[in-house]
Amino acid sequence: MRLTFLGCGTSTGVPVIGCDCPVCTSTDPKNARTRSSLLVSIDSKDPSRNIPRNILIDTSPDFRTQAIREGLRRVDAVLYTHYHADHVHGIDDLRSFNRIQNEEPIPCYGTTETMDSITSAFAYIFSTPGARNQQLGWKPNLTANTFDCPFELFGTDIIPVEIKHGRATVTGFRIGNGAYLTDCSSIPDESKELLHGLDLLILGALRNNPHPAHLSIPEAVEISGELKPKRTILTHIGHSVDSANQSPVLPEGVEYAYDGLSIEL
Ligand SMILES: [Zn+2]
Ligand SMILES: [Zn+2]
Ligand SMILES: [Zn+2]
Repeated sequence: MRLTFLGCGTSTGVPVIGCDCPVCTSTDPKNARTRSSLLVSIDSKDPSRNIPRNILIDTSPDFRTQAIREGLRRVDAVLYTHYHADHVHGIDDLRSFNRIQNEEPIPCYGTTETMDSITSAFAYIFSTPGARNQQLGWKPNLTANTFDCPFELFGTDIIPVEIKHGRATVTGFRIGNGAYLTDCSSIPDESKELLHGLDLLILGALRNNPHPAHLSIPEAVEISGELKPKRTILTHIGHSVDSANQSPVLPEGVEYAYDGLSIEL
């Protein structure tokens, strides 16, 4: 399995429009963060079909540029963490993958609350099937699917992990020995039970100071120390973090994500 950070920025992206702070004006590519999304490439279990299956976690507003940057040529499924705009609004660009995948529908998965919100916000996609419509023109061909327990995609277990995001409950995912928990302000004890023995924990951490809907960096470091994964990578990072210059400094075993970072698990 290969995990690639398509984006690791908070909802505004970094640089933030109109901001002249040192991070937003930095020329180091590690300080340029598109909106958060992860690509999970799973090796095919079918020897006659040796191309990997690509699962996207979220379709950020920057999905088009992320897909072009990574040379992405296939999307087999999309998992949604929640319905906030920075995690969903690139959804229309999935139509390009329908086109190169023989117009086959791409299945999208989320909780009932997440999919209800996405299907009503993007009714033009989900209210009519197919990739083309006389009134709507060329649109994505997607199916909406819900989960309330672990399920399997392409022979791999997908374990939804409920986490708190301010007052909301959103979804993290454990896939094999990796877990992706973005937009997290705390992890309930019963969800921590699902997060033992990880090789890689990806955790959202917005900034050094506390925030009501996101973990701060010190809070994320504390959770990493509690769950003891082999490696922890912080994502959904705001513009007060200068990850190019490692400020704030992180302890051993915890690091900042950057766009394009790719890890074999
Ligand atoms: Zn977000
Ligand atoms: Zn800034
Ligand atoms: Zn959010």
